[in-house]
Amino acid sequence: MVANEFRMTIDSRSVNESFSRAVVAAFAAQLDPTVEEINDIKTAVSEAVTNCIVHGYKNSLGKIYITVKIYENNSVVISIRDKGCGISDIKKAREPLFTTLGGDRAGLGFSVMESFMDKLTVRSRLGEGVRILMTKHLK
Ligand code: ATP
Ligand code: MG
Repeated sequence: MVANEFRMTIDSRSVNESFSRAVVAAFAAQLDPTVEEINDIKTAVSEAVTNCIVHGYKNSLGKIYITVKIYENNSVVISIRDKGCGISDIKKAREPLFTTLGGDRAGLGFSVMESFMDKLTVRSRLGEGVRILMTKHLK
């Protein structure tokens, strides 16, 4: 059962990466997480939002849709969605070190989300965007 939830829509501006990370962490704080758990959530949210900005919208302006649900069993489910270019091969995109942007990108975003959260689901339709669902069970 969902105990509490919120949703927000933000512009795909890089300043909103730290903003969204802080907002999600503040909301999750009501479950009394450990510092480590909060840091895991923040890192995962940063990676997902950055992907929407740099890959989904390729640094042009779009909207990012974030929903966070807290369940009675102490889990947090975070949905982060964009309506950008989408991913053609999700399996490949999730592989460590795979990136379509060379330079400063390591291709580790999905690996980080996967290891810091308990579950990661990636859905996409080419040309329609990407939806990331991440779950973390708090102690
Ligand atoms: P890093 O996260 O280490 O800076 P990266 O962003 O390339 O590098 P991942 O976050 O693992 O690595 O993403 C892998 C690839 O998946 C990206 O290079 C990109 O091609 C694709 N991708 C990820 N998120 C999106 C998105 N929201 N829209 C379109 N493509 C995406
Ligand atoms: Mg990334």
